[in-house]
Amino acid sequence: MTDIKCHYINGRWCPPTTADRIPVIDPATHLVVGSAPAGGAADVDAAVAAARSAFPGWAATPRAERARLLGALGELLRSHAGELARLIETEMGAPEAFALSEHVGTPIAIIDDYVAGLAHEPDEERIGNSLVTREPIGVVAAILPWNYPLYQLVAKIVPALAAGCTVVAKPAELTPLATCRFTELLDEVGIPAGVFNLVFGTGPVVGDAMSRHPDVDMVSFTGSTLAGALVGQAAAATVKRVALELGGKSASLVTPDADLEQAVTATVRSCMTNSGQCCNAWTRLITPRSARDTVARIAARVAAEIQPELGPLVSPDQYNRVQSHIAAGLDAGAALITGGLGHPDDRPDGNYAKVTVFGDVSPEMTIAQEEIFGPVLVILSYDTLDEAITLANDSRYGLHGGVWAATTESGLAIARRLRTGQVDVNGAEFNIAAPFGGYKQSGNGRELGRYGLEEFLETKAIQLA
Ligand code: NAD
Repeated sequence: MTDIKCHYINGRWCPPTTADRIPVIDPATHLVVGSAPAGGAADVDAAVAAARSAFPGWAATPRAERARLLGALGELLRSHAGELARLIETEMGAPEAFALSEHVGTPIAIIDDYVAGLAHEPDEERIGNSLVTREPIGVVAAILPWNYPLYQLVAKIVPALAAGCTVVAKPAELTPLATCRFTELLDEVGIPAGVFNLVFGTGPVVGDAMSRHPDVDMVSFTGSTLAGALVGQAAAATVKRVALELGGKSASLVTPDADLEQAVTATVRSCMTNSGQCCNAWTRLITPRSARDTVARIAARVAAEIQPELGPLVSPDQYNRVQSHIAAGLDAGAALITGGLGHPDDRPDGNYAKVTVFGDVSPEMTIAQEEIFGPVLVILSYDTLDEAITLANDSRYGLHGGVWAATTESGLAIARRLRTGQVDVNGAEFNIAAPFGGYKQSGNGRELGRYGLEEFLETKAIQLA
């Protein structure tokens, strides 16, 4: 049982100004495994004040010293990787091996990437008589989702800190444990007081107070499109910068001459990663009509292989949401290839859902349009390549995508026509240094690598006589 008693403000663990608490529930067992404070606006005020007063000192700290502290953090996370993975398994259900390799391993790699990047001085540019420089934007509020608690935290706060910003972060209600442990390790590394602050609480109270706070210069938000829009509204009155990483309904487009076995296998695996709770998952498979039966056969086989590997969904609410999407697919007349309603036979308890694949899905069905955020893949068929591209772009989202083609060149030509922030051609691997972010209602702004760091910079032009 991990009961978090305090927020982390100005380098100290501070009791909350409120009495309310939020339970943490193990998604596999439904047992209460911990709790965290449900903070209030006064806690946010204190954290923002600490971040504001720490900002000039941190912004002026030499890059080498910022790199040293972040490098030490990376090392400490490495030596506590198993412990962090177990916390993530407990709070959001990711099986331990997956939690270790992806939930903890990827953030450590991201820290390494930023530490290496800090070795280079930022570009200054001469434009005529102007010297154009980049400076940290100031106090950053980071509002986080539950699906990758540590990854999402690191993808925001490490570039923010590397850029010279100070931070107030809020984990999702469901997943405070790994974030709390991370903060203890950041404290152990010796991050100066006020540079990083952590406030626990709900979105409508703590998240909203962070978004509208006049002394916050930027909000970096990851979560649902609905909450992202509310953050944007709350932030608008003070004209702060808002970066939004939101939902997705990404397409994996398979051309007739692609390796069908490889494409379908990779797409089913992408869709089911993290029990389907990935914003960038390929959740729509777009294949030639002539390959309909072969695609269904491969997808069913891969789904059966994956089922035993999957953890539970994060919460009963999420489980119920996924069930209602599956029911909507059945009602709409989509062909159930595998899976369906209810728990897998060998997992009657917890929030386990069946790996589900629907064929004969048409674009107007809600399962083809809504983000399900669970292990549900929909397959759409096409007759011409233009039709396939139209189907892929027929979404209010545009976060990610996949193209499978006979050659990299022909895949690239299609990738250029997709209205989405990332595309992988022929299963090319995830690149932690490449910009990650969405077109359309998948958000704005980019995370990771150089582009991710630039989000946290202001641009200044100094005219020289
Ligand atoms: P959510 O929007 O409910 O919550 C995300 C965070 O926002 C939480 O910390 C929550 O407390 C906070 N929040 C909620 N309402 C708020 C408000 N009015 N003001 C300020 N903060 C508020 O989303 P979730 O259920 O935690 O995560 C699932 C969603 O996140 C999915 O739609 C998924 O696609 C999206 N997501 C996107 C990315 C990405 O990088 N694009 C990554 C992960 C998750």
